[in-house]
Amino acid sequence: MKKEMDIFQTQLLDWYQQNDRPLPWKEEKDPYLIWLSEIILQQTRVAQGLPYFEKFKAHYPDVNSLANAPADEVMKLWEGLGYYSRARNMHATAKYISEELAGKFPTTYKEILSLKGVGPYTAAAISSFAFDLPHAVVDGNVYRVLARYFGIDTPIDQTQGKKRFAELAQTLLDATQPGRYNQAIMDFGAVQCVPKSPKCKQCPLQDCCQAFQEDQVQRYPIKSKKLVKKDRFFHFLVFDHEGSTFVQKRESKDIWLHLYQFPLIESQQFISTFAELRQQEQWPNWITQANLGDWNLSRPFKQELTHQRIHAFFFKISLKTPPKSIPPEFLITERENLTKFAFPKIIDLYLKDNSLYLKLL
Ligand code: SF4
Repeated sequence: MKKEMDIFQTQLLDWYQQNDRPLPWKEEKDPYLIWLSEIILQQTRVAQGLPYFEKFKAHYPDVNSLANAPADEVMKLWEGLGYYSRARNMHATAKYISEELAGKFPTTYKEILSLKGVGPYTAAAISSFAFDLPHAVVDGNVYRVLARYFGIDTPIDQTQGKKRFAELAQTLLDATQPGRYNQAIMDFGAVQCVPKSPKCKQCPLQDCCQAFQEDQVQRYPIKSKKLVKKDRFFHFLVFDHEGSTFVQKRESKDIWLHLYQFPLIESQQFISTFAELRQQEQWPNWITQANLGDWNLSRPFKQELTHQRIHAFFFKISLKTPPKSIPPEFLITERENLTKFAFPKIIDLYLKDNSLYLKLL
């Protein structure tokens, strides 16, 4: 096994020598900017994360500027990137570093790991890239590459599998250049040994790759559980009174915390008639029959999250008269000012959509 490991390490670094992707954070030694890039890249492809990194770097060139930014501004800049808890944690961590650590980024793996929103993968990445500390990264790319190359049957979604892969990754790490080695395995998984159609025919590791030699590439990595997604049906009420509408900030412990939305009715399935919609308990009781004018329904919108599938329907409802009073959690805003709010992606899609509305019964 020792020999196989040495071969893997050498082949991987040789591959990286030829295939190093020039990315703006790679030559970076400022731990703040490395941390910023790593938080943005969690659950995100490089191509999607790149403009966000540039945007955040331009707005907040150091940790104190991010710490002092208003929360709504940070969320607005993050809009469209998904997994919004990352933005909230990032902002909280910037405040902590700025206020409690006098703006000095921590320098040890343990301290970095203790930061909000930083798990073992991100801590290993930051400490190896910024401080050359010998900690191996282990993420989906690493699981896949190692499972295929070494033909490992242990499921990656069980404690035993996680432990086994973490130990193997740490043993394989080139401790003389941990940052470079970690970049190499991440790039290799992202560019060469990709999930669906890995480039095995042009892969310099194929001679020693067990999955390739046994024609079992698609079998790896092995998972024990299949993810079952929950379907949720959201009916958004887009009221309109002389160009103004109502929005509210999501405050419950659910998806999209601190993002904005139109008044919402959620149900077990799609509600297709306006009469039925009005009978729902969640109907805003501050909108009465006397206020209501015409209403129309948008086409359906869908957004896939890790554990949920959101089906959204937008009811555009014109009001003949404004409501007498509105609860404090709702804001009145002109339609043209909606671009200033941070919305979930599915609402952004709706706002940019020009499809025709359906007339409702
Ligand atoms: Fe991955 Fe294919 Fe290379 Fe094996 S041969 S390491 S499966 S790309």
